Amino acid sequence: MNQEIRRLYARIETLEKEKNILANGNSPGYNLFSHSKDGIIIFDSEEKIVDVNPSFAKSIKMDKQQLIGRSLCEIVPENKHFKLEKQKELLKKNKSVRGILPVYNGSRSIIEFDFTTSTLNERGLYMCILRDVTNKRLLERKVKKNEELYADLFIEALDGIIFWCGNGEIIDANEAACRIFECTHDELIKKEIKDFVYEKSERYRNIVKEMFIKGSIRDELVFLMPNGQFKSLEFTVKLNSVEGYHMTIFRNVSERHAMEKSLRESEQKFRMIFEGALEGILLWNDQFEIVDINQSGQRMLQITKDDLIGASLHSILNDCNITDDELKEQIRNIHSEGQSDGNLSITLKTGRKKFFEFSNKLNIFSNISMTTFKDITEKLEMEEQLRKSDTLNVIGELAAGIAHEIRNPMTALKGFIQLLEGSVKEDHTMYFNVITTELSRIDSIINEFLILAKPQAVKFVELDISQIMKETVDLLSAQAVLHNVQFRTYYEQNLPKVFCESNQMKKVFINIIKNAIEVMPKGGYITVSIQKVSDHKVHISIKDEGTGIPAHKIKKLGEPFYTTKERGTGLGLMVTYKIIEEHKGTIEVESKMGEGTVFHIYLPLI
Ligand code: ADP
Ligand code: MG
Repeated sequence: MNQEIRRLYARIETLEKEKNILANGNSPGYNLFSHSKDGIIIFDSEEKIVDVNPSFAKSIKMDKQQLIGRSLCEIVPENKHFKLEKQKELLKKNKSVRGILPVYNGSRSIIEFDFTTSTLNERGLYMCILRDVTNKRLLERKVKKNEELYADLFIEALDGIIFWCGNGEIIDANEAACRIFECTHDELIKKEIKDFVYEKSERYRNIVKEMFIKGSIRDELVFLMPNGQFKSLEFTVKLNSVEGYHMTIFRNVSERHAMEKSLRESEQKFRMIFEGALEGILLWNDQFEIVDINQSGQRMLQITKDDLIGASLHSILNDCNITDDELKEQIRNIHSEGQSDGNLSITLKTGRKKFFEFSNKLNIFSNISMTTFKDITEKLEMEEQLRKSDTLNVIGELAAGIAHEIRNPMTALKGFIQLLEGSVKEDHTMYFNVITTELSRIDSIINEFLILAKPQAVKFVELDISQIMKETVDLLSAQAVLHNVQFRTYYEQNLPKVFCESNQMKKVFINIIKNAIEVMPKGGYITVSIQKVSDHKVHISIKDEGTGIPAHKIKKLGEPFYTTKERGTGLGLMVTYKIIEEHKGTIEVESKMGEGTVFHIYLPLI
């Protein structure tokens, strides 16, 4: 654009020269009059047009004949008539007058002329030579505007702009550049841009090389300012951009870099907290689609992130204890209060049922809501166990008190019944049998009670648990055969010894196996296996193929007198739990209706 402006200036200059030649009247005459490129008007002292040359007539799109005889006032806009007055006045004193004169053309638009009027002769004729400068004036205005615009851009720009010459010396810089380079304008003028480059590294040299090859470049470097400050500047270089000078535009991107860095850091911080949290954290959007889940969450739900992201929140609520109505209520709560919390149980893909405590917060940021949750299965189980062991303790204390009291009269009863049986003449065998079995039933109940009684002389020793199990299985095999039940046993070789009380362990195994036999009236297999699961735990499992136990009944197992059998005592499992507890072990029951039940016993090895 600058080139264009310069070209126009040159053209204006030559035109000026031409006009001057004409105005000086170097070669007057008709030829000049009719062939001149400039317009010529001859008018008299009354300002009446006497003659015009073709060039003028053409420039205002009128016929010569239309113009001759008219007054100059008619072709000059009214508000410029003062110019004609002025001309008249000046012509009285001077030989010639110069100026700018607007004239109407045939279609009533205004043409601007540069004019020179001079006295033609003594008879009061004047000659006005006019040159159409409409376009020139327009251009001049445009140039002025462009110059202003350029100055505005240069001075006011937010980006630093530096002009430098071939030897690298800075010749001009705007205010923004001074600010960026922490220099005054004068200080900057003495320097070169490369003085500020912090490291003249390979990269810097490549940038310079490429700049000279391509003529322009855009890149980024670290600059060291005179006050010791480092700045990352983004720059655009354009060689020979204005009048042979080179231009570089700078922008300080240090802040942006710092911001990006702190953003990255805070994102990292958030990640660490998110992933490191002990609670499960689930993020979901307003479409209830899962957006993110942390590691604890994946572990608790036993699903990987990849399987979850994009899935609906409902998909993990699969097989949970919350009804659709309750779920809607939850969602309503979230929407009305921005949060909600509660408990729910979910059956995981692995088939395990887990209990969770959760809390929802709506729209924690841009449409993302958060659910935090905790696996409280173990806590609930522990509470349950605590409740059971509490009852067990009470029973134990009771048992200690009563059992002996009952036992003594029982011994007396048993002795006398035997005596009576021998001395009664009639055959009452049936009655005696009933009495004897009922008495032995009472006996076994009392025995089980006694195990619960606290102070017992139990001796814990290191024993081979497989051996104890083998003996128990042998003991029960007769009864098993009777029920058409067979054993399958798997004992891990070289199991470490378990610290336990042999008779009590036997009691545990007998109770569980007996129950197993009793739930398989049509026979089947009882699978017993013992194996080490870790350095400090051994796992004993006893699996039957019986009826199974409904889920809601499993937690009742071990409660005193809980039995579903007509002649059951409901004490067997209670004793079992008690003994395992005393051995610092745990029992888990896994059951499927119609398929069978597995009792898992875990005993500590040390
Ligand atoms: P009892 O055997 O005298 O009923 P237990 O304490 O041994 O008392 O067992 C309590 C109850 O637990 C049983 O009545 C039965 O309903 C249930 N139970 C125990 N073991 C099993 C099993 N292997 N399969 C199904 N139900 C069982
Ligand atoms: Mg039983």
